[in-house]
Amino acid sequence: MNLPTYLLKYIIKIICNYINKNSNNYTYKKNEIDQLKKSICLTCWTFFKTLSFHLSVLIICNQCNENQQIKKISRLDEEKEKYQLLKRENIYTMNFIYHYKLNNFSDLSSLNQEIKLFENLKKIIVDRCDLSVIKLIEFNNIKIQDYYLSNHSTNVPISLATNVKEITNLSIAPNNISSLIIDFFKRSIKVKRILEIDYYSPCQIPFEELLPSKVLTCVKNYDLVILTIRDLYYLLKSSPNLKRLSFYICFDNLIYQLTNKKTSPCKCSQLINGANHQFNDDENEHQIWNDKSKENQNEDDDIDQFKFYWDFISNEIKNHTKLTFLKIVNKCLINHDSGSNYQKESSFPKEFIEKFSYPFKMNNSIKAVMFNGFHTPEIYEKIIIKGNKSIFHYHSEFLDHTFQKKIEYKESIENLLSKHHHIKYFLLKDKDNNNYLLNYSK
Ligand SMILES: [Zn+2]
Repeated sequence: MNLPTYLLKYIIKIICNYINKNSNNYTYKKNEIDQLKKSICLTCWTFFKTLSFHLSVLIICNQCNENQQIKKISRLDEEKEKYQLLKRENIYTMNFIYHYKLNNFSDLSSLNQEIKLFENLKKIIVDRCDLSVIKLIEFNNIKIQDYYLSNHSTNVPISLATNVKEITNLSIAPNNISSLIIDFFKRSIKVKRILEIDYYSPCQIPFEELLPSKVLTCVKNYDLVILTIRDLYYLLKSSPNLKRLSFYICFDNLIYQLTNKKTSPCKCSQLINGANHQFNDDENEHQIWNDKSKENQNEDDDIDQFKFYWDFISNEIKNHTKLTFLKIVNKCLINHDSGSNYQKESSFPKEFIEKFSYPFKMNNSIKAVMFNGFHTPEIYEKIIIKGNKSIFHYHSEFLDHTFQKKIEYKESIENLLSKHHHIKYFLLKDKDNNNYLLNYSK
């Protein structure tokens, strides 16, 4: 069957979009991309021209002289250009990869001259590079793939590299740098993903302080360390476009608060719910809370404050339309040596399971969850049996050796899987041998 030419061109355009989009993953997709290009452009002259017209990303590797690579395209004579797949006038994005060494642009003035020749260039992407170099690139829309924010004195402040408009992955150093984060976001800069890398520290992102400026609105992905319920409240308020969220939280405290103090408190329980935190009076819900708080004292305050945060979080997750992945791991900021109380019990309090599972049962956007630290299957039974049909990927890890009903756990999950066919993956990882107790996929 012969497809009409317009349809063939349309298909090539779709493939080109895929190639352009994946230029950020060029290291991993190189073979696939090269193969795609080759098979299309060698088919016929029309295919070659269509492919050439829609390929808009020029990838420049640092393995050889980058300026020479650019010149191959920027300074071609007309006759040769006809046979060149990537054409200067079609290039919208220049993507420099493997630029992880400092001062790694071999000749900046020549690079600046070559860049000017690309009349339709809209964006330059650099994987990693020193800001002192980037600020010398004479182009006003630069995106950095990986940027490490630390208080290292040799760092050039981002405020001086005014041509940087976007950062894909912003890694936060383990030291106490909340004020540095506030300074960083004083410049309007789009950040897609924020990662923290010291898993025994509290989260350092001052969500509350950043909320009024709306600078976290474009963040779609967080990989964070230990959060309080208050952090989570302000995170969800700050980033309505969130797609993926990973964080650690103290389950003992969560259970203690969600069962209205019927279980044993964790050492952190009196410290982390923000009893001493100041609220911002100019927001309505804060005012409501302030009014409420005047009527209550100490412990009641604490319960009410937690309830205020939790109700918001629960409602937000329940109604979220963009969130697709959520990872929650049990970890306490204070009590990381003596183990968790809840894991010594044979089941979770019913009240906790009800409240924790509720937003997941109701949500329709989440596709995958990873819960580490649930040593009994109740949470999954609750989410799956009476509610959620959209989560098809579950990943669960034991974090403790003290509770050993593994066979019963596995059987319960297998029973769930036999009745609920929408689930495609269920991975159950055993801490004892680091193997999967269950590795279900279909
Ligand atoms: Zn704790």
